[in-house]
Amino acid sequence: MTEAFLNAEPTLRLAAFLGVLIIMVLWEVATPRRRRDIPRVIRWTNNIALVVFDTVILRLTFPILAVGLAVIAEEQGWGLFNILDVPIGLSIVASMLLLDLAIYLQHVMFHAVPGLWRLHRTHHADLDFDATTGLRFHPVEILISMGIKLAVVAALGPPAIAVLLFEVLLNSTALFNHGNINLPHRVDRVLRLVVVTPDMHRVHHSVDPRETNSNYGFNLPWWDRLLGTYVAQPLRGHEGMEIGIEQFRTRRDLWLDRMLLQPLRGPAYGPAQNVPSVSKVTTTSDKDQ
Ligand SMILES: [Zn+2]
Ligand SMILES: [Zn+2]
Repeated sequence: MTEAFLNAEPTLRLAAFLGVLIIMVLWEVATPRRRRDIPRVIRWTNNIALVVFDTVILRLTFPILAVGLAVIAEEQGWGLFNILDVPIGLSIVASMLLLDLAIYLQHVMFHAVPGLWRLHRTHHADLDFDATTGLRFHPVEILISMGIKLAVVAALGPPAIAVLLFEVLLNSTALFNHGNINLPHRVDRVLRLVVVTPDMHRVHHSVDPRETNSNYGFNLPWWDRLLGTYVAQPLRGHEGMEIGIEQFRTRRDLWLDRMLLQPLRGPAYGPAQNVPSVSKVTTTSDKDQ
């Protein structure tokens, strides 16, 4: 049973990934939110090449990934939920919430620590914002994230199914909330009560550092609202705002080799550090811009 579960994992994840990616691409073509500045072919080939590279590196580096570790933890009785006598439904929901909180906190940390920002800024340096932006992470960030996730899984002892569901959900929402799609404002307003929407996450990709340091959530929007990092809309509106960071703005910077070497270039302190949150200035209106 356990073995069948683990064997099915890669197929299940790949199917969910490709399914959601195709839906998002069709959606972006049908109702785009913003005009594209960069030809799709440059960004797509390099962003997709990066995610393939990341996946290979990840598989080669770690002998076991998060779901596999959760299976071992269950067998060995490691971690909080394997010690406590909690109903399975409750431990699945609680584990998924805590994993999401961990990802939120990790994202805040990647902005706050200069050495980590060097890695994470690869994600922010994309000059347009679409579903493939959600795939664009530096391989060293992917490895550090997996190390943190493995530590969280070992400490929590979540049901393996909760970790699998969480990872499939996180991959799918990352594609969704980077989508260049035009959701009607009313739909967005209701949807962002329960999930991070593209309009909410686009604020995080603003070149304005006060907006870059907001809306850290990937799945649930609640952590940003609870912990004071929520910004409803970009100051210059979704069509007027500039995407990316100040440091890397040439088309050549979008190529795979430049993305991989980007952490070594320029100062460690980027504009994402030491700036006040914009939330106090912009939360006055939640209206569509
Ligand atoms: Zn970020
Ligand atoms: Zn993003």
